[in-house]
Amino acid sequence: MRVEFVRSAVSPSDFPTEGLPEVAVVGRSNVGKSRLLNQLAGIQKLAYVSKTPGRTQLINFFRVENSFYLVDLPGYGFARVPLKVRKRWEGLVTSYLFGRNEIRLVLLVIDIRREPMPNDLEVRDLLERSGASYTVVATKSDKLSHAALGRQRARLEETFGTEGKVPLITFSAVTRQGRKQLWSVIEKHVREARQTRKAQ
Ligand code: GDP
Repeated sequence: MRVEFVRSAVSPSDFPTEGLPEVAVVGRSNVGKSRLLNQLAGIQKLAYVSKTPGRTQLINFFRVENSFYLVDLPGYGFARVPLKVRKRWEGLVTSYLFGRNEIRLVLLVIDIRREPMPNDLEVRDLLERSGASYTVVATKSDKLSHAALGRQRARLEETFGTEGKVPLITFSAVTRQGRKQLWSVIEKHVREARQTRKAQ
């Protein structure tokens, strides 16, 4: 699969203009977003780009097979972040989520072992208000036993109220659990985007 890093955006004027569908990924810092992106795309380059100093607070666009963009939104929840940086994050992410017609799906990445933090729930509320389709991806599933995984999954589904939406996906970059399911959800949303475009 061909995945190319296209650009980093500091503001909406930097967003790509081809109109390809977009699948965005957002999560707290250290949650496993980079490894998830790597695992999805099957290459190391993605994490490398996203982790480059100076790019962690930007929106990074990766084109997949000339078919859609994987959009790496900046992480949140860094310890002791100055208010200015927090506001910049909010401004950039809000302008993306609320202003971008190309969004087909947003993956909200959380750590399956942890209770969601207030900022995870704030991002969930932002997604709800933006009207974007989104699904919660709970990573690091390899860290829990089968029974604990089931329990935690049920709790998270309750907290995030995923009933009637795309179901929560459990994922592990180590065992690759959830990779196929995640791909099929992504492909479904990208395919729907293509069909809508053809019909117009
Ligand atoms: P990011 O800051 O959200 O991009 O997080 P990273 O992808 O860099 O991951 C943060 C840490 O969690 C690293 O030490 C990863 O190796 C580890 N990690 C990420 N995903 C998984 C996973 O699925 N299983 C396990 N066991 N560790 C993971």
